[in-house]
Amino acid sequence: MQNIFIIYTGGTIGMVKDPDTGTFVPFDFELIARNLPDLARLNYRLTVHSFTPIIDSSNMKPSIWLEMAQIIKDNYEHYDGFVILHGSDTMSFSASILSFMLEGLQKPVILSGSQLPIGEIRTDARENMMTALEIASAKENGKAIIQEVCILFDNKLFRGNRSFKYNSAKFEAFRSPNYPVLAEAGIHINYNREALLDNTDKEFILHTELDNRVGVLKLFPGISPDFIRAILDADVRSIVMETFGSGNTMTDEWFLDMLAAAVKNGKNILDISQCKVGSVELGRYETSQGLKAIGVLNGYDMTFEAAVTKLMYLQGQFDDQESVAYWVEKNIRGELTVND
Ligand code: ASP
Repeated sequence: MQNIFIIYTGGTIGMVKDPDTGTFVPFDFELIARNLPDLARLNYRLTVHSFTPIIDSSNMKPSIWLEMAQIIKDNYEHYDGFVILHGSDTMSFSASILSFMLEGLQKPVILSGSQLPIGEIRTDARENMMTALEIASAKENGKAIIQEVCILFDNKLFRGNRSFKYNSAKFEAFRSPNYPVLAEAGIHINYNREALLDNTDKEFILHTELDNRVGVLKLFPGISPDFIRAILDADVRSIVMETFGSGNTMTDEWFLDMLAAAVKNGKNILDISQCKVGSVELGRYETSQGLKAIGVLNGYDMTFEAAVTKLMYLQGQFDDQESVAYWVEKNIRGELTVND
């Protein structure tokens, strides 16, 4: 019999409508268990840890990430897999940071939730949860098939740090256009073996140091120098710069001078694209050529969620600018594809 650990953090899956206000509010795990009598028929031993309070995932924060990661570490030896029930709004951030915190993971950590609460007739919660449990328990030759942090939603399994929420209305809430889907559930669950991480020979290490001094600069035509200066002067160690196309920016001297000064003053600036598909290619156009020269870092095809959380993780590991700069451009948990 498989031992599966369920961590319930909240999200729509377990929400009910407040009769007074008509808004969805988180409810306890009992609601899920009541609406899912099939849980008792499963051939797994389930252990449930419910967070207090349970939250809408828009209230997610690093202290809760630490708690989740610690629970997984504390129970790692005794369970075959972990399912985290989580709101979909920030699920990709949590999946990304957990992928960095849980190095050398050899067991599945599957985040899932739903777009409609479990008590609704047309809910997607039942299927999502049952499939997540099945994947969390799947083994071959005694080894877990999935050895990484994933998101299961609408019959698709995504690498967590490659995914993002792209639709707030459809059951198909997530996508990972820069990396293949890891598995698809139909009559059978078909795993895309070549795309999976194999951590069999690695040591499992929990990293608990995070430094959230990360900022974001999203460019748009007409953005004012004052606004850019305010961001670059903020008390952060790194800035994720969301650029155009394949990593392009304005070439105005004042702009490049500001970036160069920020880098000289100890800040890392990471170039990721506003496009959801494709990769940053510094130097492909004249409009990105100067960036490399002043020390702007290449975010390749990382999602925004992976970029922000990777910097929090690396800044927790290293006090110096150079080490963070070195590692952020490396593929450490399958989060980016280096194309040069
Ligand atoms: N607002 C909800 C949350 O992220 C949405 C969901 O669960 O799908 O907690």
